[in-house]
Amino acid sequence: MMDRTRGYYDPEQETMPAARRAELHRDLLRETVRHAYGHAPATRRKMDAAGVRPQDIRELADLRKIPLTKKADLKHIQKGEPPFGGLAALPPRAMRRIYVSPGPTFDPEGREGTHWRWEKPFYAAGFREGDIVQNTFMYHFSPAGLMFDEALQRIGCTVIPAGVGNTEMQAQVMKELSVTGYVGTPSFLMSILEKAKEMGAEPGNGLSLQVALVTGEMLPEPLRARLRDEFGVQVRQCYGTADVGSLGYECFEAKGMHVPDEILLELIDPATGDPVPPGSIGEVVVTLPDRTYPLVRFATGDLSILSEEPCPCGRTSPRLLKLVGRVDQVTKIKGMFVHPEQVAQLEKKVAEIASAQFVVTREGHEDRMEMRIVLAERAAPSDALAARIVEAAREITRLRGEVRFQPAAEVQEREKKIVDNRKWD
Ligand SMILES: [Zn+2]
Repeated sequence: MMDRTRGYYDPEQETMPAARRAELHRDLLRETVRHAYGHAPATRRKMDAAGVRPQDIRELADLRKIPLTKKADLKHIQKGEPPFGGLAALPPRAMRRIYVSPGPTFDPEGREGTHWRWEKPFYAAGFREGDIVQNTFMYHFSPAGLMFDEALQRIGCTVIPAGVGNTEMQAQVMKELSVTGYVGTPSFLMSILEKAKEMGAEPGNGLSLQVALVTGEMLPEPLRARLRDEFGVQVRQCYGTADVGSLGYECFEAKGMHVPDEILLELIDPATGDPVPPGSIGEVVVTLPDRTYPLVRFATGDLSILSEEPCPCGRTSPRLLKLVGRVDQVTKIKGMFVHPEQVAQLEKKVAEIASAQFVVTREGHEDRMEMRIVLAERAAPSDALAARIVEAAREITRLRGEVRFQPAAEVQEREKKIVDNRKWD
């Protein structure tokens, strides 16, 4: 059996001391900003407008002087200056491929072949030379299929370019080609395995699948456990975008996603642009050291939480603990972000809760957060239960709210987890 546990793809880099990483990042930062300023007109314009010159950017903390480029604005930016909005450093004919995301927006890929950087995530997830891997991501327009395909080839795997859909054929192929690795969404993996089971394939008897790298949707822990216990598959997840490639990957420990060493990642408060401390929710902002597409402070719109605690796997990079949603879904209450996902966490944490909704109002200069709680059938309201809910919510959101028990029929705007009733005029 192969050792699919620790898996450093590049031990030298992945276990480097923090001080050396800081040095590496400083060099990448200076070079990227200089290159982008010299060759990407939109980056030059935004720096000129802010009165910042490349030589002003010497340390990571200096990045804050440069305004963000928001992913949500990309379509508009590209329309104004086709095809790449002045953000690419090379003309289209110098590129290896150009992808098309819904919008449409265009995603360039340089000829270096290092733009997406998925080798490390695969290796950390347990993929090894000799694996036969079924790639169920889309191969046309979107970069997903090809970017994973090529990384797999580079680590010595054999790829089946299966693409999306067609569950029955996927299951048959998985069985007949003795597939050992899968890349795609977690829900589709479960569908394929259930189909394979119907066909009589089970672990050790017609089913050889051992590792899976999943992304594109949330991976609930019960689903991960079921894939492991029922089908014998080690599932790890990764995070990235069609603009910048890999932004995080789980190791064997599966306690958050390691930030790749070769990019510069900030987590910022979307309201103020200031960096948030480890443990707090912030927007993922990326500066990409890439010859073709040297993005400087690209705001992804994804919200996450960073941990700088050492990971037992030995990698020294910080980790994104989880993705908690999109910037356009957050509400700021008493200076803290609250996301619908956190309300859902509260519902899970306190068994007596059937559903919860946070209602925000403003009294004088203070925000007030009321938690409207619909109880499960057998639960009864009490002060003790209310106190437990307040405490659980405080742990999740760091905010103190008041509990109001409510019959389900009285809940307004039931589809919303957070209702903002503040008036700002
Ligand atoms: Zn780790």
